[in-house]
Amino acid sequence: MTENGRKHVALVTGASSGIGRATARLFAQNGYSLALVDRDEPGGNALVEELQATGTDCAFFACDVSDEGAVTDTIRRAITRFGHIDAAFNNAGIEGETAITGECTSANWDRVININLRGVWLCMREELYYMLNEETGGVIVNCASVAGMVGIAGIPAYVAAKHGVVGLTKAAALEYATRKIRVNAICPGAIETPMLQRFMSTAENGREQMIATEPMGRIGRPEEIAEAVLWLCSKGASFTTGQAVAVDGGWTAR
Ligand code: NAP
Repeated sequence: MTENGRKHVALVTGASSGIGRATARLFAQNGYSLALVDRDEPGGNALVEELQATGTDCAFFACDVSDEGAVTDTIRRAITRFGHIDAAFNNAGIEGETAITGECTSANWDRVININLRGVWLCMREELYYMLNEETGGVIVNCASVAGMVGIAGIPAYVAAKHGVVGLTKAAALEYATRKIRVNAICPGAIETPMLQRFMSTAENGREQMIATEPMGRIGRPEEIAEAVLWLCSKGASFTTGQAVAVDGGWTAR
């Protein structure tokens, strides 16, 4: 997609799987060029091959989003490759281990906070630096969760990290509101991805239990999150910033 001769470029982290991959595909269908970031190289390379076959200009950058030096280097290389970034979806994340607060290990706490919260901030810091140089500004969407809006028992580090992502999103939205940069968070409910499959497998009848709590009686699809991210990055959302947007089939409406 080009506007006034300028190509639209989106950067997606966690692009090799699940929600990130579905969002990258939707951006590509809508004419964006794509900088795909993930620590899963085979998955990222497979997506590049798939998208290039449909004529999308895209490149994969292997990167651990919790590694400060790697993030700085990756986003600099993405800018060198594409010239600019109009939209960034900071989506890479892990579920961590299941254990109540008093039994959560410090190793699990650090791993989840480092990837799910610090990783989002590290990516944002670099994206903001380059977006500020652009006359047209930019749009950032951070992947939080319904676990960033309400408590969920058994995954305290994940819940804390996702609440942190929502808070960080609001702070940055206010800081950059007059500087042509919008920042929002998407809060998915249960979405059919490898992460959710792993999470459900930790309990007997995990899938049935999950579906039993769903107002719509079903789990969401990654493509249903991608549609919301695409809208948040579009001109249609030009007056939307600092929001935590739940796409959860009504789960947080109860
Ligand atoms: P997924 O299928 O596991 O995909 C996550 C991707 O991120 C994987 O390719 C993963 O690589 C990558 N990743 C993990 N840690 C990384 C790191 N440190 N650096 C770079 N890449 C990393 O999970 P998903 O369900 O699509 O999750 C995407 C986002 O949605 C996450 O932030 C998650 O918390 C959020 N979310 C998911 C759900 C859900 O129900 N699925 C609900 C709410 C929120 P590896 O495979 O190597 O780990």
